[in-house]
Amino acid sequence: MTDYGAQGKNRTYNAIDLNNCKNHQSYYTALSRGTSAEGTIILQGLDPWKITSGISGYLRQEFRELDTLDEITKLRYDGHFPESLVGLTRNELLRSYKCWKRNSPQTLLPKSTQADSWRQIVRPRKALPPQKPATAPSHVDVASQAPPPQVEDLAAMKVVLSDPAGLKWDSTDYSCVYDAVFTILWNMWTENPSEWSLLLANNGAPMSLLIAHFLRSAQELESLESGRDTVRRLLHELQPDYFPYGKEGAVFSDLAEILSNDCDISCTTRRCLSCGDETGTGRHALHSCHTILPQVGADADYLLSDYMKTLSCHQTTAICERCHSNFPLWEFTSFKNIPSLFTVCSYDNHLLFDPLLSLWKGGEAFQLRLCGIIYLAGFHFTARIIRQDKKVWFHDGIDTGSCLQREADLDTSQRPDRLRAAYGKPAIGAIYCLDL
Ligand SMILES: [Zn+2]
Repeated sequence: MTDYGAQGKNRTYNAIDLNNCKNHQSYYTALSRGTSAEGTIILQGLDPWKITSGISGYLRQEFRELDTLDEITKLRYDGHFPESLVGLTRNELLRSYKCWKRNSPQTLLPKSTQADSWRQIVRPRKALPPQKPATAPSHVDVASQAPPPQVEDLAAMKVVLSDPAGLKWDSTDYSCVYDAVFTILWNMWTENPSEWSLLLANNGAPMSLLIAHFLRSAQELESLESGRDTVRRLLHELQPDYFPYGKEGAVFSDLAEILSNDCDISCTTRRCLSCGDETGTGRHALHSCHTILPQVGADADYLLSDYMKTLSCHQTTAICERCHSNFPLWEFTSFKNIPSLFTVCSYDNHLLFDPLLSLWKGGEAFQLRLCGIIYLAGFHFTARIIRQDKKVWFHDGIDTGSCLQREADLDTSQRPDRLRAAYGKPAIGAIYCLDL
């Protein structure tokens, strides 16, 4: 009998074959059919990795979203749910709720239950020699934040910071996700400090603070790690559950969301091709920090640009209410904002990241350039940095530290297959920036 077929059954003597079980869910189903440990017989062996390797980012997000949906339900029940919040789909509802929550005074907000219910246990990695630079204090008082960059400072920055650099891993307060993301942003920022400081000025407090510290690092007033720790402190104060200290890691999607000016960048309209009737749906297909879930039924690789094309135009099953034509309505998506930074969190192994993305807005073409990819496996994040000159660099806060490892240049004429993984770790996200 399969684990699927065994669901709901109780067995006094439960003989199970765990070797052929696919994942922890199957283990659970098979084991929990037995009524006692004495009556449980495990045939052959078992793979402990399947039940000790930790929770996937996808599952973690799922649990957290269920918590948030609970909050929404409670607010609705108590009559406190703001009428302005809309969302036809789960994703839209969650997003508009998170946006509202972020911008509302603390007193209005429901107490989050997450910290009590869920806690990620991170397995310790093998011991490594401490790599923290002696000059970098691990916790800097946020009150002593660097002042925002002044125009004069930026104008004075004629120095070309051509050598790519990265951040060293903090073995006390695991920092790999910050190291990966900040290394990508630092190498993007140093290519045009004045332009990027202006473009990212409205991306929220954490990004402004990061840019201010980039400026200090560029002037050699402090190390990149010291700036990282200050930004980290602010993130922890804003969202302690998402940005913990110690050996608990943060995840890329949370960091990407808080650093990007999280907004809708496209809007969707429905059009009847028979009578020409057109209505806005209020639905936003793309966000400046966009999550791509596994595509149902897809078993072949596809490019991010293909994914965006399918969003831009597709047939629905809805029928026109005006002319009741037999032909279902079409949905069209167009860009209303071109983000200076576009982050993608991918939960689909088939997704490949294009080196360049072309977006159209009001007849004008804009290009977004892939400036970095985030990799994750075994609870450790690494990154590839792709610079304007198409040179590719690899960064691992533990192995390469403040130096980056040069790789073969990016060949834009080929499918970007080689970027999908780095030294055994799959890509889980990418950062695109306006091609200045
Ligand atoms: Zn019609």
